[in-house]
Amino acid sequence: WSPETVAVVTGSNRGIGYEIARQLALQGLTVILTSRDLDKVNEAANSLHQQHPFLFIVPHQLDISDPDSVHHFAHWLHRVYGGLDILVNNAGVNFNLGSDNSVEFAETVIKTNYYGTKRMMKAMTPLMKPSACGSRIVNVSSRLGRMNGRRNRLGDTTLREKLTDDDNLTEELIDSVMTSFLEEVKRGNETSDKWPQMFTDYSLSKLAVNAYTRLTAKALIDQPDGHKIYLNCYCPGWVKTAMTGWMGNISAEEGADTGVWLALHPSQSVTGKFFAERREINF
Ligand code: NDP
Repeated sequence: WSPETVAVVTGSNRGIGYEIARQLALQGLTVILTSRDLDKVNEAANSLHQQHPFLFIVPHQLDISDPDSVHHFAHWLHRVYGGLDILVNNAGVNFNLGSDNSVEFAETVIKTNYYGTKRMMKAMTPLMKPSACGSRIVNVSSRLGRMNGRRNRLGDTTLREKLTDDDNLTEELIDSVMTSFLEEVKRGNETSDKWPQMFTDYSLSKLAVNAYTRLTAKALIDQPDGHKIYLNCYCPGWVKTAMTGWMGNISAEEGADTGVWLALHPSQSVTGKFFAERREINF
């Protein structure tokens, strides 16, 4: 890899995103380190430069839930680098460690994890550089967002069937599930067995990211050679970061591994899949 290859990692001032950025930069790529807070991202970039003075790390402000911030970022990226080769949608929030399951928290989780990720994909895909081996998008998701997980699943069978029917899956359907969930939260019905029972808002936001990954991958691969984009999502495992109150069972470095592997994956045929520990898993 060379500095000609440009990777963007969202929410990379700390945690798994920081590690993904560090590991990509160690491969010799140019990595755009981003955070919603300019001071935080400058601090993170300085710390990386101190550890590895020769890495190509460029800090930039980016709040994925703010359309203006995403617009300015896309404009800057196009002007300075002409686009990008790799996008890692890592930024996310989860308030379920606390006791307050407010409407505001649920709205922020859906707005950031699902709509923010989607906004980045829509803004970045037109900027992805043509390449013989295709460019790549990796969405950092979670096993909690599995449709039919062993311990956590979408309780509404009809909805589950609709969301797993790839031939009829649409962006409008995914959005409408998010809207109806938020309406129910406002009515105090978020604990209904229709929804996942664990970390309900967070699990649903990741379920939506997964469904959107499957949906979009089909369109992004259906491009002429040289313009194909390979899109996959993965669960990093239970990782010791601020999000889990440092209660995970693996380090951020280990949690980043499958994301980096997918971003640099040599196989040209893998797209629209869900991974964990470098293996494909069920949605
Ligand atoms: P952290 O809380 O450590 O990091 C989250 C990052 O996302 C921070 O940099 C945070 O910025 C950033 N962020 C939050 N909101 C926005 C926004 N609106 N725009 C841009 N950046 C934002 O969590 P992790 O590193 O653990 O999580 C990274 C990803 O991995 C998330 O998508 C998470 O859902 C996923 N994940 C994590 C698991 C775990 O066990 N830790 C398990 C499964 C999935 P700031 O510093 O400003 O808050």
